[in-house]
Amino acid sequence: MSTIAAISTPVYQGGLAVIRMSGEDSFRIADNIFVGKTAPSEMAGYTCQYGKIVRRGRTLDDVILTVFRAPHSYTGEDTVEISCHGGVYLAREILKLIIENGAEPAPAGEFTKRAFLSGKLSLTQAEGVLDIISANGERELVSARAMREGNLSKNIHAVAEDMIKISGNLAAWSDYPDEDIPDADTTHLGTDLSEIINRLEHILNSYDKGKILRQGIDTAIIGRPNVGKSTLMNQLLGYRRSIVTENAGTTRDVIEESVRVGDFVLKLSDTAGIRDTEDPIECIGVDLATQKLENSELVLAVFDSSEELTDTDREILDRIKSKPHILLLNKSDLPEKLDSKYFSDENILSVSAETGSGLEKLPEMIADLFKLGGSSDTAEIYINERQRSQVSKALDYVRLALTEYQSGITLDAVTVYMDEALNALLELTGERATEAVVNNLFERFCVGK
Ligand code: GDP
Repeated sequence: MSTIAAISTPVYQGGLAVIRMSGEDSFRIADNIFVGKTAPSEMAGYTCQYGKIVRRGRTLDDVILTVFRAPHSYTGEDTVEISCHGGVYLAREILKLIIENGAEPAPAGEFTKRAFLSGKLSLTQAEGVLDIISANGERELVSARAMREGNLSKNIHAVAEDMIKISGNLAAWSDYPDEDIPDADTTHLGTDLSEIINRLEHILNSYDKGKILRQGIDTAIIGRPNVGKSTLMNQLLGYRRSIVTENAGTTRDVIEESVRVGDFVLKLSDTAGIRDTEDPIECIGVDLATQKLENSELVLAVFDSSEELTDTDREILDRIKSKPHILLLNKSDLPEKLDSKYFSDENILSVSAETGSGLEKLPEMIADLFKLGGSSDTAEIYINERQRSQVSKALDYVRLALTEYQSGITLDAVTVYMDEALNALLELTGERATEAVVNNLFERFCVGK
């Protein structure tokens, strides 16, 4: 395979830039361009050296060069990494020099693809690498690391192996229907298949949670006028976005913004207060608010704890019942007048939108509401869309196999469905993935990764 090279750090001015080279010519090329105490080809793996990158007798930069020897490198091949000063022109010149010396520019994801092709990573582990790079919060990172370490591949593999066992027994049964043992085995077939279904369903369930983390939660802030919705939104956003006034009903449009609350991104809409109104412009705002409420995945219902509960408040409580919601009793800095007996066994948070106090508990409450657990230490793996689609395909086939078995159809049909399910899982881990699937996946990586 050719020797590839790329700038692995973002191409901006920065403290450092790293140029990576992988393939059998790496050390020869490094010897040509690097001047230090020892030639890179003489260096031991996992060691680095200070020296100069020299082009036709002229020094381009002083750098640190690190050597990784096959198979103990990311790609599994001989690899050299050069850390130079973080100049865009400089890093490109060093890359150009490497290419002049015989390397090829690496296409997007080529280093990780080689790691996959040399058996260092499964396809799902490679996806873990992608997830590590794109993780925006602790939960996503913990999941990504677990995927990168192979926990998802291991789970899938364990299910696949049990499926192979089941298929093996079935094959024995259909090949030698007169023997005794296979009969005993098929008595377990129903429970075995149900167990496989449970395990696949469990893996599949994590997709929705991962989606919440990756794509954010459509959130509606609702409450009657003047309870502090705009103030809350501004507090969450950290700057003044909506106009806050003391006159009721001044927020007329639905304003949409995204805000990070702990590990979560809330896609917020500040809305006109929900209330009966004659004002035509406000009417539009109120309609939008109602619609937003229906479309949202999470409702933050705001109440003014310095006032008594009104009929509109009660109506709001009634309307949000069927939605995942958190009740924010706002203005906790003022004397309390709200009778909290209406709020028994709800997700309640006493806050001051003005000062921000109490809002620090919001992430934990959201985590509980979406069953993401209290802490992010436990490594739940959030599968991605490709993985979801493969697990779901496998699940459909195993369910079909179970129905066929229960309806007393020949076991041959069950075997055929089990094979299809197995194919879906092996495509997921990459053991039976087509070239198109593999290429498609690595195209999503950046150059230099
Ligand atoms: P909205 O109509 O629900 O968007 O309410 P606003 O955010 O416009 O707030 C209405 C009034 O309540 C403004 O005068 C805010 O300054 C005030 N307000 C909002 N939150 C708090 C709070 O936590 N404490 C106090 N003391 N006043 C608040």
